Amino acid sequence: MMMKPLQDRNTQYAQQTLKKPFTCIGRGLHTGLKVIMTVMPAEANSGYRFVRRDVSAGRNEVIAAWHTVTETNLCTTVSNNMGVRVSTIEHLIAALYANGVDNARIVLDGPEVPIMDGSAKPFSELIESVGLETLEEERKAIVITDTITVRDGKKEASLIPSPTSWITMEIDFESSVIGRQSLSLEMGTENFNRELADSRTFGFVDQMNTLQALGYARGGSLQNAVLVAKNGVINKDGLRHENEFIRHKMLDAIGDLALSGAPIIGSFSAKYSGHKLNNELLRKLLQSQNAYQYVPLREVSDNWVEMMNVSAG
Ligand SMILES: [Zn+2]
Repeated sequence: MMMKPLQDRNTQYAQQTLKKPFTCIGRGLHTGLKVIMTVMPAEANSGYRFVRRDVSAGRNEVIAAWHTVTETNLCTTVSNNMGVRVSTIEHLIAALYANGVDNARIVLDGPEVPIMDGSAKPFSELIESVGLETLEEERKAIVITDTITVRDGKKEASLIPSPTSWITMEIDFESSVIGRQSLSLEMGTENFNRELADSRTFGFVDQMNTLQALGYARGGSLQNAVLVAKNGVINKDGLRHENEFIRHKMLDAIGDLALSGAPIIGSFSAKYSGHKLNNELLRKLLQSQNAYQYVPLREVSDNWVEMMNVSAG
């Protein structure tokens, strides 16, 4: 394999947005509500912003960022300070981030992003089809200069200084259909779209009734999720990858980490983590001034070693 200093996602020095809007129609995985969503170009430094068309102007904008995450139970939900929320944002945000979209205005007429086929592939394809526009503002990066770790029982997640951004995850489910899976990948547009984007969200048959009674998974179906039974998956066509489960967990983690608001130069490593721990990790990082530097991406690749020395001194 050829050695590259940094992957494509991290060598575009100017911020980007979409060239044109794209629209998706579908149901929310948890609410089951039908949603029309249009993802539009947005100006530099505006990040990812949702606009709820079903909520009155002045209170309908919800910024998607690490500090606006209000719920992490089964999906990631962001809210504004008037309590207006948007849920299941992680697959869309992962696709935007991994495909190099720094700024997007996401207009939707309901409280949840459409689940599409349960993966990020439809979003990646739509982003590719409309193309990207380069903006006249430099892209800044979050360079990890000291290891940050969060734990919850046996769950663990870390960000580690590294000139290349790798993502390494391990899961271990009681279900023998999933069991123990681990995977390590360098973060970049190509790897995301080829290795992770098409992996679907999953759920367990014996939890479905409970979840639906609690208001979750009401839009869930075999068209948008892998359904796991005792002896195998219920979906007729089976899995898209032998280890689709760990791949989906990595896709989720990228969506959660994308809420940092900038490309992260450093590696992510996690055991059994989920949306909750991933968000706690970002909160800990961004509240630890000695653990990162926020610098123009252009300055990172040549100066990484020096940046580490500075922070060590
Ligand atoms: Zn997911």
